[in-house]
Amino acid sequence: MEKSRSKKIENLSSFEEKAADSLFKQLDKNEKGYVNPETIWRKLENMGILEDDIRLNEFRTTLENSVTEKGIDKKLFLKLGKQDNLVRRALYRDLIIPDFKDFCKEIIKIYHEVEVNKKGEIADYIPQLARVNPEHFALSICTVDGQRFSIGDSKDNFCVQSTCKPINYCIAMEELGEETVHRHIGREPSGRSFNELSLNHKGLPHNPMINAGAIMACSLIKRNSAIADRFEHISSIWKHLCGGRNVHFNNSVYLSERQTADRNFALAYFMRENKAFMPKTDITETLEFYFQCCSIESCTENLSIAAATFANSGINPLTGEAIFNENTVRHCMSLMSSCGMYDFSGEFAFRVGVPAKSGVSGSLLVVIPNVMGISIWSPRLDKMGNSVRGVEFCKKLIDKFNFHMYDSLMEQTSKKDPRKRKHESKVNKLINLIYAAGYGDLNELQRLEAEGMSLNSSDYDGRTALHLAASENQVEIVKYLLDKGVKHDLKDRWGNTPLNDAIRGDNKEIVKILEEEMVLKDKKKMK
Ligand code: GLU
Repeated sequence: MEKSRSKKIENLSSFEEKAADSLFKQLDKNEKGYVNPETIWRKLENMGILEDDIRLNEFRTTLENSVTEKGIDKKLFLKLGKQDNLVRRALYRDLIIPDFKDFCKEIIKIYHEVEVNKKGEIADYIPQLARVNPEHFALSICTVDGQRFSIGDSKDNFCVQSTCKPINYCIAMEELGEETVHRHIGREPSGRSFNELSLNHKGLPHNPMINAGAIMACSLIKRNSAIADRFEHISSIWKHLCGGRNVHFNNSVYLSERQTADRNFALAYFMRENKAFMPKTDITETLEFYFQCCSIESCTENLSIAAATFANSGINPLTGEAIFNENTVRHCMSLMSSCGMYDFSGEFAFRVGVPAKSGVSGSLLVVIPNVMGISIWSPRLDKMGNSVRGVEFCKKLIDKFNFHMYDSLMEQTSKKDPRKRKHESKVNKLINLIYAAGYGDLNELQRLEAEGMSLNSSDYDGRTALHLAASENQVEIVKYLLDKGVKHDLKDRWGNTPLNDAIRGDNKEIVKILEEEMVLKDKKKMK
């Protein structure tokens, strides 16, 4: 094994070798030929790859077995990078959020801006929620590459309440399929309060994100199994969703929910009267199962991994396990987008534009598809029942970053795209500018100019828009650029001016224009 691996290292492509070599040099600041393991761990941490990440187990073992007192030499460094895809990608900042530390700084800033908001009231329909300290505020992020960040009371447990609804919906969908599930649950926003005694025109609950639909979803899950097995089934799925971390159960919350459940009982009987349930559904058992699901407890650190699993089409980014299939997740995201935020769902979809689900404990799960999952906990609720700070955080997040589902429609935006490397968008614009000049696309050139690009910008080789236009015989562009006063005599890295390019291309008209420009500028200088 060891032998074949060292052969592989010898076979590194020269590109990889060069890249690894320059990275090693960067890390080996004192040029001793060794890198301290701590330096690597800190680099990984800055990228959000934390020490408890189970994907690092093999890396840790190899490191511990091979590192010498002096540190990691180049050979070991290459071996570690070759062996571990995640480590290599993290060190090269080749993860979905390449500048993760900068991104987290922005998150911390928003967190503190939102923290001062003390508006709203905590839920008090059961004593266990009424007693919660309203000051709690926790936020955790997990990206689809498993980059993690947490701030605030992120290790404190709270009951998930309605944030169990999307998960139960997915579990029912995986077990029974779309057709069967939606024979019993609609998929329209209700426009009514989450526990209102109302059904759709077919006599079915409006959707799985409000109480009636969630009770129905519970009735469908492992319906022929014993209640204990049903609960074990969903807890085990929660555990897998949270990357193998145990979720807890708050028995007092469960007992209280059961005791104050008149409305939920009423909903269940109303659905039974309308023959909405599958035959032989035991209502009391179904409701108890539903209360148990609401009483599951976890913390934002764990729940952000569950949210990231949704963002990653059902595959847990830390364990690589496929928890739900992508179709199930897609359906669930549609319903979270339209119905996940109680009576604020339409407004949230309009303003924030990402799937989310909140619960009366002040819990909020937010999914940014293909990017990250976010879990927020702050117990004070607004009139609709959503966490006040949770909603404010989402609004501010979307003001800053282009995460809204339809932000991709906006070509001109001041929002940041954290999926891009720091200077990537600038570089892309520059390449577009130079290409537009070469292709004679004046509209694009003017658009980029309007976005603030300097028409004198040059690429790595010192080539400007005027160089490209001159060598590609784009007369109109050359005239436009000179009208705009661009420098006509900038030299590229080979010492060529746009005029040299025009002469080489035998572009006579442009040669003439540029020569006239030279004369004009010289005259001006003389004056
Ligand atoms: N256990 C609560 C109920 O069924 C859930 C409420 C919620 O979080 O929306 O009333």
